[in-house]
Amino acid sequence: MKVTFPYMSNSHIAITNILEGLGNEVIPPPKPSKLTLSYGTKYAPEFACVPFKITLGTYIETLEMGADTIVSTGGVGPCRAGLYTTLQEKILRNIGYEFEMITFEPPSRYLKDIIRNFKKLVNKKVSLVEIIKLIWFAWEQLTLLDEVELESFKIRPCEVKRGETTRAYRKIVDIIAQAKNRDDLKEARKLADKIYSSVDRYEDVDPLKIALLGEIYVVMEPTANLEIEETLGELGAYVERTMFFTDYTINNAITDLFHLKGDRDAKKAAVPYFNEMCGGHGRESVGNTILYAEKGFDGVIQVAPFTCIPEIVAKSILPTVAEEYGIGFLSISIDEQTGKAGIQTRLEAFVDLLARKRKKKREEKIA
Ligand code: SF4
Repeated sequence: MKVTFPYMSNSHIAITNILEGLGNEVIPPPKPSKLTLSYGTKYAPEFACVPFKITLGTYIETLEMGADTIVSTGGVGPCRAGLYTTLQEKILRNIGYEFEMITFEPPSRYLKDIIRNFKKLVNKKVSLVEIIKLIWFAWEQLTLLDEVELESFKIRPCEVKRGETTRAYRKIVDIIAQAKNRDDLKEARKLADKIYSSVDRYEDVDPLKIALLGEIYVVMEPTANLEIEETLGELGAYVERTMFFTDYTINNAITDLFHLKGDRDAKKAAVPYFNEMCGGHGRESVGNTILYAEKGFDGVIQVAPFTCIPEIVAKSILPTVAEEYGIGFLSISIDEQTGKAGIQTRLEAFVDLLARKRKKKREEKIA
């Protein structure tokens, strides 16, 4: 079996380890590029959202590299994400690829299917204890990856030399990716501290605070949002992202399995403005805007794929919410035509606006 899966943030590192540990040959998905998107755009329906096009492009790239099995996730609810794999499988077969598509649906409704699908991916003699250890290690690796990414957001606005934090962060990710056991992870943690402490920083920086929210794929995958976090950090802003891989798994897959309510705070906060289930993370975008305003953030940026219904609904509500809670708001819609230079200009203008607003607020307080 030559297995592949979609690329999202650093998750490919841990997923590759699990699949290899289960005895599969893994064709790791390459980082999405212009070529990936061009394949996806060529074969996807024109109205499809950009995560659909990127993942479709990734599958074409990995099938060309020899993959014969695609592992992905499904979903329920009104958002079209739940139909991604069904449609992508049809498109890929029409182009002429032969492969098996394994889709993991939400655990609360499809636990038996999940177990059956998981068994297909166990291709060597491995005990249940070994499987648990494998998954546990992957979880620790992902947790550390999320931790060091969060730290990069804090350091970047204070860096003296532009780009130094990003270089340090990438070096650290490579070290964590090579970890084979818990001792290696402990060592990686120490090295990460050492590498970050060598980044020259300005003291007494009080950066603007901006939260990044919106649709999961474009929020979490830097190549999909054209590296908004890096750009904002280099413009001197501290960025907080509403979703990280480990948090997302706890708030969705695990809470779903035990019938708990994930992301409760954001959904609860959204109730006065948005109380309907519309799929995706539209409600969370509204709720998080309120929560970040209450935490004293200067602004929020909604990133949304062009044609993403949940985020279109949220976008129609967000200006009112932002106005009422006194927080800056910018919405960026992303499709295959979006360019980094255009986004950079909009981010510069937004940061400038927030800085002036903050200055004015402080002057009014003193007066
Ligand atoms: S949330 Fe939006 S972008 Fe994501 S799958 Fe649904 S419609 Fe597409």
